[in-house]
Amino acid sequence: QAKGAGKNTLRFFEPQMQASMSARVALQTDLRQAIYLKQFSLHYQAQVAEGIGIVGVEALIRWTHPEHGLIPPANFIHIAEETGLILPIGSWVLETACSQLASWANIPVMADLSISVNVSARQFMQVDWVDQVLAIIKNTGANPNLLKLELTESMLAQNTEDIISKMTLLKAHGIGFSLDDFGTGYSSLSYLKLLPMDQLKIDSSFVRDILIDPNDSAIAQMVIGLAKNLGLTVIAEGVETEAQRNALSKLGCYEYQGYLYSKPLPIREFEAFLNRFEKSALQE
Ligand code: C2E
Ligand code: MG
Ligand code: MG
Ligand code: MG
Repeated sequence: QAKGAGKNTLRFFEPQMQASMSARVALQTDLRQAIYLKQFSLHYQAQVAEGIGIVGVEALIRWTHPEHGLIPPANFIHIAEETGLILPIGSWVLETACSQLASWANIPVMADLSISVNVSARQFMQVDWVDQVLAIIKNTGANPNLLKLELTESMLAQNTEDIISKMTLLKAHGIGFSLDDFGTGYSSLSYLKLLPMDQLKIDSSFVRDILIDPNDSAIAQMVIGLAKNLGLTVIAEGVETEAQRNALSKLGCYEYQGYLYSKPLPIREFEAFLNRFEKSALQE
């Protein structure tokens, strides 16, 4: 029965859409097995504070597919969210990042680095989310004061009360919170003051043309002012050039993440980059 019905349904779609739908289904199937087959890895991107150096890293997931090669998160995170696979994937990410954090504790150049981990709404909505995070912290031996969870505006619009209470519990254990891609969602600024946030991340879309588009520069300035007034730190993402960094610095943003310093790197390459960076800073 399925075959005939399927054909009828698919007749209404364009051929390329059929292709993309079956590609999607195939991707879902592969995604289901990716953890067991150890196809995920984390890449680490430096966060640099002016006059201080590398103060943290953002952990970013990578999927190496046996046939399609490296698949960027933009091409599979939404599928993981829709299917619920983001729950096991998200746990794997948090566990891997926390193990990494714990392993740096005794290495002088690494010991003070914070790790930022992206978290999806689906993960946060689980009733036992707080317990899961605390269990991972305990099992890995990671210092919770060095862990930051990155949330996005869109996920905060619903269940605000529940999110605030979970954030408050996690904050009591030292875990920090960063609001990712800030300015791209439709945040109500009034709930921003209710959230126990620690950091705002200026989205890369405002950084890109900060030198040529006065609107982008005005938005960056607004976010920086907002962070100051709410007592939050602020970091800019997607910083690719010195000129962009200088423009941000002039507006009062002193923390940066972007290709200007480094792309997200596999762990060994990140550690090597960090050692080089620290050495060159000492020689300055
Ligand atoms: P995001 O959290 O906003 O991460 C920043 C993205 O900007 C990363 O893309 C990073 O590689 C890219 N980027 C950093 N610096 C520059 C730059 O100077 N120029 C340009 N053009 N791009 C830069 P990536 O790694 O492809 O990740 C995309 C998005 O996927 C992330 O955006 C995040 O929303 C999501 N994501 C990544 N890893 C995870 C994860 O473990 N869990 C969840 N739930 N989402 C994740
Ligand atoms: Mg992020
Ligand atoms: Mg972002
Ligand atoms: Mg983004």
